[in-house]
Amino acid sequence: MGASPGHGHQDYQVNISNQKRETASTKLISPYGGELVDLFVKEPNEQLIDYAGRLQSVQLSERQVCDLELMATGAFSPLDRFMGQADHTSVLHDLRLTNGYLFPISITLSVGPGPAIQLDQDIALRDSKNELLAIMTIEEVYEWDLSEETQFILGTDDPRHPLVAEMHRWGKLNISGPIQAINRPRHYDFQELRLTPEQTRSRLEVLGHKNVIAFQTRNPLHRAHEELTKRAIQELDGVLLLHPAVGMTKPGDVDHYTRVRTYMAMATRYYDSNRILLSLLPLAMRLAGPREALWHALIRRNYGANHMIIGRDHANPGMNSMGQPFYQSYDAQALVEQFSEEVGINVLAFDELVYIPEEDRYEELSKLSAQSRTISLSGSQVREEYLQRGKTLPEWFTRPEVAEILEETYPPRYKQGVCVWFTGLSCAGKSTTAEILTELLLENGRQVTLLDGDVVRTHLSQGLGFSKEDRDTNIRRIGYVAAEIVRHGGAVICAAVSPYRATRNDARNMVGKDHFIEVFVDAPLEVCEQRDSKGMYAKARRGELTNFTGISDVYEIPQGAELVLDAVNRTPEENALLVLDYLERAGLIRRREPMETSPAYKNQGRYCLQ
Ligand code: ADP
Ligand code: ADP
Repeated sequence: MGASPGHGHQDYQVNISNQKRETASTKLISPYGGELVDLFVKEPNEQLIDYAGRLQSVQLSERQVCDLELMATGAFSPLDRFMGQADHTSVLHDLRLTNGYLFPISITLSVGPGPAIQLDQDIALRDSKNELLAIMTIEEVYEWDLSEETQFILGTDDPRHPLVAEMHRWGKLNISGPIQAINRPRHYDFQELRLTPEQTRSRLEVLGHKNVIAFQTRNPLHRAHEELTKRAIQELDGVLLLHPAVGMTKPGDVDHYTRVRTYMAMATRYYDSNRILLSLLPLAMRLAGPREALWHALIRRNYGANHMIIGRDHANPGMNSMGQPFYQSYDAQALVEQFSEEVGINVLAFDELVYIPEEDRYEELSKLSAQSRTISLSGSQVREEYLQRGKTLPEWFTRPEVAEILEETYPPRYKQGVCVWFTGLSCAGKSTTAEILTELLLENGRQVTLLDGDVVRTHLSQGLGFSKEDRDTNIRRIGYVAAEIVRHGGAVICAAVSPYRATRNDARNMVGKDHFIEVFVDAPLEVCEQRDSKGMYAKARRGELTNFTGISDVYEIPQGAELVLDAVNRTPEENALLVLDYLERAGLIRRREPMETSPAYKNQGRYCLQ
């Protein structure tokens, strides 16, 4: 620990009491450890940049970039470097750095061995796009132990825990040493909301309340959150630091672009602007439950908060592979409360808030009588019962502005993209069926792009032949275009022989399995050859075409296709209708109403007859 005084546990106690005296004169609580760490080189000159350009580089992962940004701007104060072995061990076992300060999460820079990793050498730390972030002097290289790390920090080695899975990919060595930060990682989104601890503190100073209540979140902001944050503001006569994690959260969470738009809508429309500060935290969460909560508290103190809302299941990634929760619901609250005084953060330990429809208000579950009727919606209910069905979220649950933003990001299934992928021998009937299906989809209100193998080969894949490589290239191009169409909510029908299973699977992966409908147009070779509408089989038999599917090249029959169409005993129209039925059952289209059943039509009919 370079910048910190390096004193032991005893001295540290003294230090804290000095700090308390200091805070009495200033409005906001002081940073943890007394002052904000600042690793940035003041006005880096050309020489330094030039020097950095000649150094060996280490490319940081997304997580490491987040950690570096927070460390360099002082959000992890008093930590001023990726942890060396002594600090790392101490953090695992005692939740403290060797100088006595609390630090419950290990912040390490793991790397693989390589020419860059040598003691006493300067290296350049770069992001995934090779932008220079910092220069680090390697003072220590040590091995770390996966099972120790998972057990102590997470309390589990269950691979269902998102971080356990990730840790298996980390480099086997940790490196540590002093850092000169040169550039902040670039973010082009919501720039005005990405405040450093120092910027946050000066905004809070202007708002002028000593009590600052931090609220950490990785979810959109709903009415229950609004309610508990407003209660906290009122009870403490304070200001809310709405501080969402926008670095890495739990895989599958609502993306931060969408979330931040909900926070902005809430902050501008539903809070007193003098009582809220929205600031984005580029935090790479560990989802470590209690330890993570304590870490969150410590970070928020650095941003000027002296209170923090900790509800149930804080930073809890859900269920383990035995179907048990990784952490007990209130363990996080308990751990932060235990260290509350030392870390300088008062815990606002809210119980779960639920809605009482009869009284149109929210209340803490523990304050209700057994008879009270309450309602709530889980995340999966929100997705499955509302968003996917195009049903508007109720106002008791979320503000209409938030509902609208979520609806834009999660359109109902029938407005989501879909790819119908026809595969089968030449002349089996793919194009014929696809053309009919195109019209039926248009009739039912979906815009369609048809990527027919023959047509694609005249432009997108012009010049490609029928070797295995060329065919794969052709299919991957079709898959790529299909994936883009699906990503933008369109319907695309692909009709190509696509004879190889592995390549069809590539296309499926590109598009996304929930949106990919593989349809095997099944007609035996004899039938196809008999049809020979393009005269190809005859040419192939004469040897004028090589690698002809079914004659001189394989066709790998689909396994697990969503649909198999009998293209001998059923007409193309019947088959197209089968696909349409499938899409309707999957919720991917909404069939138009038949004219006779529409009430307007019926009334009109009666009127005419009279
Ligand atoms: P592909 O696109 O699979 O090469 P096409 O749709 O271009 O095949 O050609 C199939 C030919 O077979 C068309 O001329 C079509 O009219 C004819 N055909 C006869 N019976 C059927 C059927 N049951 N399903 C599909 N096509 C059929
Ligand atoms: P793929 O790329 O999967 O082979 P396409 O649908 O792109 O399938 O093929 C386009 C057309 O080229 C098909 O109508 C098919 O009959 C024809 N074709 C397939 N194999 C050959 C070949 N070896 N030589 C010439 N034409 C072929």
